Amino acid sequence: MVTIMNRRREMRPRLRMTRQRRALLAAIEEAGGHPTADEIYRIAKRRLPRISLGTIYRNLGILAEHGLVQSIEAAGRQRRFDADAARHYHVRCMGCGRLDDVRMKSICHVERAARAATGYEITGHRMELLGLCRGCATERDRKRKGAQRSPAKQGGA
Ligand SMILES: [Zn+2]
Ligand SMILES: [Zn+2]
Repeated sequence: MVTIMNRRREMRPRLRMTRQRRALLAAIEEAGGHPTADEIYRIAKRRLPRISLGTIYRNLGILAEHGLVQSIEAAGRQRRFDADAARHYHVRCMGCGRLDDVRMKSICHVERAARAATGYEITGHRMELLGLCRGCATERDRKRKGAQRSPAKQGGA
């Protein structure tokens, strides 16, 4: 799940860019898409052979807090990271776990509505879209067709 936080950058002091953090950002870019901490670790290790997984986790957390990467969380699944820290949503395939970007406008009107309804000062929102990727939808349709055919075969035999 992605947390879209408002005014995040202004609220945080500037982050010191250590060699490790720079290497992590480069590793996320290199991995492309939405790598897990393990995937980032494998790439970062090439540049910093002595880096530990603990250091990776800690620094990824810091980078995410400072809005330099996006941390994408989902219950029961490994957290993923996104070098694109600009606001965008994600859609997760319920079949294979694949994660893709959704390029659409931020739903800020939901925040305004929530504020009007509750009187809260709304500071952000979380949203994850769920579905089936094309590959999984095709596979499901193929299985359904197969399931429809087999009783007919049995009837004929
Ligand atoms: Zn899928
Ligand atoms: Zn993304």
